[in-house]
Amino acid sequence: MQLKKLLEKKNLSKNDIIRLLSVKNKQEIEMIRKKAYFVMKQHCGEKVYYRGLLEFSNLCANNCYYCGIRKGNKEIMRYSLEKEEITNIAAWCADNGYGSIVLQSGERRDSKFVDFVEDVTKKIKEKTKEKTKEKTKEKTKEKTKSDRLPNGLGVTLSVGEQDYAAYRRFFEAGAHRYLLRIETTNPELFKKTHPKNQTLKNRKKCLRILKKIGYQIGSGVMIGLPGQTIEDLADDIMFFKKYDIDMIGMGPYITHRQTPMKRYGQETKNRKEDVFNLSLMMIAVTRIALKDVNIATTTALQALYPDGREKGLQYGANVIMPLVTPKRVRKEYMLYDGKPCIDEDTDECKLCLLGRIKTIGRSVGFDEWGDPKHFLNRTKK
Ligand code: SF4
Repeated sequence: MQLKKLLEKKNLSKNDIIRLLSVKNKQEIEMIRKKAYFVMKQHCGEKVYYRGLLEFSNLCANNCYYCGIRKGNKEIMRYSLEKEEITNIAAWCADNGYGSIVLQSGERRDSKFVDFVEDVTKKIKEKTKEKTKEKTKEKTKEKTKSDRLPNGLGVTLSVGEQDYAAYRRFFEAGAHRYLLRIETTNPELFKKTHPKNQTLKNRKKCLRILKKIGYQIGSGVMIGLPGQTIEDLADDIMFFKKYDIDMIGMGPYITHRQTPMKRYGQETKNRKEDVFNLSLMMIAVTRIALKDVNIATTTALQALYPDGREKGLQYGANVIMPLVTPKRVRKEYMLYDGKPCIDEDTDECKLCLLGRIKTIGRSVGFDEWGDPKHFLNRTKK
């Protein structure tokens, strides 16, 4: 089938996805990019939504073989932010129009941690709702602004695999989105990249629980893992579809020198370029296949090329996650080597991203949650 005809198909099969991901010709890549952009515009609009990313603790009980903050890495300074600092940062996000915050940390399931996450989520909601009320009373221009966030700041959690009770408590505390990356849906690759106690089966189970509870669910994969094929990536996209994933965050796999997988470096210029281009194609093809989901342009893209995140937006992404982690601990949350934005502070990131988004002619959905249309559509049914 000609590429043009393939791009008109309403539902893409796994083989269609493989064909699209395999395209190497520049003209054809541009056709796919344009189609992805068109689909995004049609189903989600052109706005870019912010989620302030707060990496509130780098303590982790796990040992994923690729991750820089794995428990086995003794070279980093461990930190956990206090509740007060977290809620103040959340208030900063609300004041600066970010609309949503993502609370991310290493994975822990102890009761102290679960209590902490539940409580800090509640506090963020209370604090940002209070602010909204205050502003409304003021009867200033702010009124319109606060009316757009009537339920306070949107809270997304990304704290790994938990049990039903913990997920339920977080949801009732006010978190309405949850990110849990599957990393790869190929069982063999998953085994090669995780210790035995972590299973693909459990991760899938967690995603099903999250959906049942009523979260907007996010997932994603690493692109360019050693031994990963185009067919694996096509399976990943089919998985997003089957599991009704609402939000997708995918990025190139970049090594960290203090991990067991350090030998798989971005050693050659060609590999770096290939993995970058494949990541952009994954964004575009996922957009074409899934249409109304939110797709984030990840910081890992910018780690490979300075304009990586802008490129992600041009290939069909509509979400960006500006770092709001305090500058003093940013370098302790290096999941991979060469992570950008660790020497900047939150205000610098705000200005820098705005400039980047403007250069590609997009605007930011300030003061909006920017919930995924896919979630709204699937829950309407
Ligand atoms: S990927 Fe997540 S769970 Fe695995 S070691 Fe890193 S922070 Fe921990």
